[in-house]
Amino acid sequence: MSDFEYHGIDQHVGSTPLIRLRRLSELTGCEILGKAEFMNPGGSVKDRVALGIITDAEERGWLNPGDTIVEGTAGNTGIGLTILGHARGYRTVIIIPETQSAEKINLLRNLGAEVITVPEHPYTHPGNFNRVAQRLAAENHWFWANQFDNTAARQAHYRTTGPEIWEQTRGEVSAFVSAVGTGGTLAGTTQFLKERQPRLTAICADPYGAAMWSWFTHGHTDIRDGDSVAEGIGQTRITKNLENLVIDRAYRISDQPAVTILYHLLREEGLFLGLSSGINIAGAVRWARERGPGQTIVTILCDSGLKYQSKLYNPAWLQEYHLDSGLPLESILA
Ligand code: PMP
Repeated sequence: MSDFEYHGIDQHVGSTPLIRLRRLSELTGCEILGKAEFMNPGGSVKDRVALGIITDAEERGWLNPGDTIVEGTAGNTGIGLTILGHARGYRTVIIIPETQSAEKINLLRNLGAEVITVPEHPYTHPGNFNRVAQRLAAENHWFWANQFDNTAARQAHYRTTGPEIWEQTRGEVSAFVSAVGTGGTLAGTTQFLKERQPRLTAICADPYGAAMWSWFTHGHTDIRDGDSVAEGIGQTRITKNLENLVIDRAYRISDQPAVTILYHLLREEGLFLGLSSGINIAGAVRWARERGPGQTIVTILCDSGLKYQSKLYNPAWLQEYHLDSGLPLESILA
């Protein structure tokens, strides 16, 4: 028998390439690198978390073949849970705010999830997508993935994303930048990288309308003004995944520079990405400008533009939101 083994899709999550963002690296004199999470089987960074949560629940005996996983999600975690769930023998029920892109909602249905759309409500409201998932889990004896407060999410990034970045940069990474949805990516990756390199600068790139900039800069979540069209990010409370996380810098990033970056990357570097990736990259550029040339800055390319063709990549939609796809890349450096 050969040593070579073949595996199913659940063994092919992670180990994504680290891609050099050429023009932004040239303009800043830093290496600006994006971890290509859109290349995961379900097309996003959340596959790592979906697999991590499922595996953790299996090990604890909370999930058995044929069981149902229920989750409140902006879409990507639901996609990951559904495909990886199928690979492991589970079905999924997905609660998603109706404000999320039609592509994500249709995709979830086509993948075979039972999808329930709900109006968007704050976390404190019983109709909040997450609260609905929690309630349905209790009523039906389903497993609630609970990505926001299940620290298996943070652990998945501590075990995989952090070590991969460390290896791929040969330990030369000097800063890590991430936006926050659950906080799993920022917390888990930062924790691993700081254990290896305490001088690493950990940075939160926050969209408007969220409270993470306020939390990391002022120690309270009072400031959540403005708004963003980004999906999957924009947190207003300290989730369990964020507890005890210490970072070095937070930036508030508006949508326009992120859109400018996305269209540049699409037209000149062949990268087709969602808006949270643009916010992450804008954060990396802010730090490159603040600290100066010579750094190796890593951020996350969370998902692809495929899921946002009716929104971000639709000229009429952009116009409605007063976003311009034609600004020169240099405008973000002003
Ligand atoms: N970008 C996108 C597109 C996402 O779906 C998510 C997860 N909701 C994030 C970024 C943020 O990741 P995390 O939950 O690890 O903070």
